[in-house]
Amino acid sequence: MPAAYQIVDHVYDAVVVGAGGSGLRAVMECAQSGLKTACITKVFPTRSHTVAAQGGIAASLGNMGPDHWTWHMYDTVKGSDWLGDQDAIEYMVREAPAAVYELEHAGMPFSRTDEGRIYQRPFGGMMQNMGEGPPAQRTCAAADRTGHAMLHTLYQQSLRYDADFYIEYFALDLIMVDGECRGVIALCMEDGSIHRFRSHNTVLATGGYGRCYYSATSAHTCTGDGGGMVLRAGLPLQDMEFVQFHPTGIYGAGVLITEGARGEGGYLTNSEGERFMERYAPSAKDLASRDVVSRSMAMEMREGRGVGPHKDHIFLHLDHIDPKVLHERLPGITETGKIFAGVDLTRQPLPVTPTVHYNMGGIPTNFHGEVVNLVDGNPDAVVPGLFAVGEAACVSVHGANRLGSNSLIDLVVFGRATGKRIADIQRKDAPHAAASTAADEAALTRLDRFRHADGAAPTAEIRLDMQRTMQKHCAVFRDNALLTEGQERITGIYKRMADVGIKDRSMIWNTDLVETLELDNLVAQAMVTMDSAANRKESRGAHVNEDYPDRDDANWMKHTIATFEGWGGEGGKTAIDYRPVHDYTLTDEVEYIKPKKRVY
Ligand SMILES: Cc1cc2nc3c(=O)[nH]c(=O)nc-3n(C[C@H](O)[C@H](O)[C@H](O)COP(=O)(O)OP(=O)(O)OC[C@H]3O[C@@H](n4cnc5c(N)ncnc54)[C@H](O)[C@@H]3O)c2cc1C
Repeated sequence: MPAAYQIVDHVYDAVVVGAGGSGLRAVMECAQSGLKTACITKVFPTRSHTVAAQGGIAASLGNMGPDHWTWHMYDTVKGSDWLGDQDAIEYMVREAPAAVYELEHAGMPFSRTDEGRIYQRPFGGMMQNMGEGPPAQRTCAAADRTGHAMLHTLYQQSLRYDADFYIEYFALDLIMVDGECRGVIALCMEDGSIHRFRSHNTVLATGGYGRCYYSATSAHTCTGDGGGMVLRAGLPLQDMEFVQFHPTGIYGAGVLITEGARGEGGYLTNSEGERFMERYAPSAKDLASRDVVSRSMAMEMREGRGVGPHKDHIFLHLDHIDPKVLHERLPGITETGKIFAGVDLTRQPLPVTPTVHYNMGGIPTNFHGEVVNLVDGNPDAVVPGLFAVGEAACVSVHGANRLGSNSLIDLVVFGRATGKRIADIQRKDAPHAAASTAADEAALTRLDRFRHADGAAPTAEIRLDMQRTMQKHCAVFRDNALLTEGQERITGIYKRMADVGIKDRSMIWNTDLVETLELDNLVAQAMVTMDSAANRKESRGAHVNEDYPDRDDANWMKHTIATFEGWGGEGGKTAIDYRPVHDYTLTDEVEYIKPKKRVY
């Protein structure tokens, strides 16, 4: 082990890495159950990406029209293009109303109807009557700042309980011993000290990895560190080929305009002023699911009907909506339009383009949040001591495509479920297993290697190459040639990590070092994403390979699981296997929803 590093020890029942919506909900549940709980986060809790969520959180409250959890279930299964696990989906949609009322009672400032009930808006793919329609008003909102309201509520609640927060600590690696997780090793960014958190239970709530693409709505901190740690531990990631493009990122800036804008009546037009969604999704139109709308926009641009001198974007109209409604329901995006597009959206259309938004893939878990792995033919073997929640995880409720407003509900439902599971299986005051010098050594060797890296390739240059390659070769439309070339390029970029160079050697707020550690996490997942996409010879949800334009249930209704060997430019091989999709429900109160062609 590099001798220069002193290790500070901590001992906990539960350690949660991440303080977004999912992490904080898990922390609350663990602490409330009397477990000795820590939360480690690289950014201040209320700066986690959850704070940026705009449109809302889905639950079949039925405040603004008829609704039922089975309808929410149907829409989620259909949205997932039948790749979601139906037991987990049933769990989520049934628990959703209670989870929203819990947030309400905790003080979350939802928008209200005239009768004082929680306001709910229509969102893409959310329908009444088992997909038959009309649209359901299911998405509960706090204006267009729902994530902000939710994250602040959850942080306030977390402080009520006795959890320890380690803020601006960067988790480096899991402590794995004999296939079991015994905690995590982290760097305190402020003073450079190294901390070993020994814990009976470790929860990864580290969010998505959208930043391996060039244009993404997610924060620069969304670097998939949890996924990187899991790959280095030799464990798989699931369904990484499914990357969601949100139809309405502001052209150029990449900043999100919520789907709530279309929920409130906004619509898209091409260069001819035509409302083209009527052709692609005659019934749901602008409120079809995200993959469908993004692809329709890309088709319009390809066929020369994009707007602007380069015909490379589309217009989103809100100029027909009463300015009073915009002010009340969408105040944030009115401001965003002004700042990032220079547009007064009460009078002018906004230039938008599909932008990377969400990772359906992630760390495979069951609906208790327990990480699962394929062991000796058992696809559901639990990895003892390790859990994952939120965007970092793949439960899988979103399958091949997530419906808007289904992530925020996933965060709180499974954050709570994970805390409950830990409390159920945890013997209080159980003795801690021995620490592992091998795990310490691996984590610190990697840290030390990057800290002293003096190669010719600056971190920012490799990162930009990776982002451009992913954007070009692994986007809304894919085909064999594009993916094969993408695989070659991304492998070359991965190898360049062996020649990375940083300038700052200190241990105090070394952002050069932390960004390099993040890039190492990103680039491994970029490789796995590209390889998983090249491997899936069909089109389903967000993954469209034009050489195989149809969904192929006979051969491909299965989850991809991929492991990756190597880090820092060494090794670099992805190995792919599969897990079956759960074709059963949790209870017999609802029947398995059989696959159908997906039309909106
Ligand atoms: C602009 C935008 C708008 C959205 N709007 C909606 C919406 O309206 N409705 C909806 O349902 N979904 C929405 N989504 C999706 C949803 O907000 C996210 O999927 C969700 O918030 C992710 O939450 P999380 O808890 O998984 O992680 P995050 O909120 O991303 O938090 C990750 C946490 O992990 C910590 N972390 C990461 N790496 C490390 C490390 N190495 N060491 C220590 N800590 C670490 C970070 O500090 C942070 O606290 C939106 C997403 C974006 C980007």
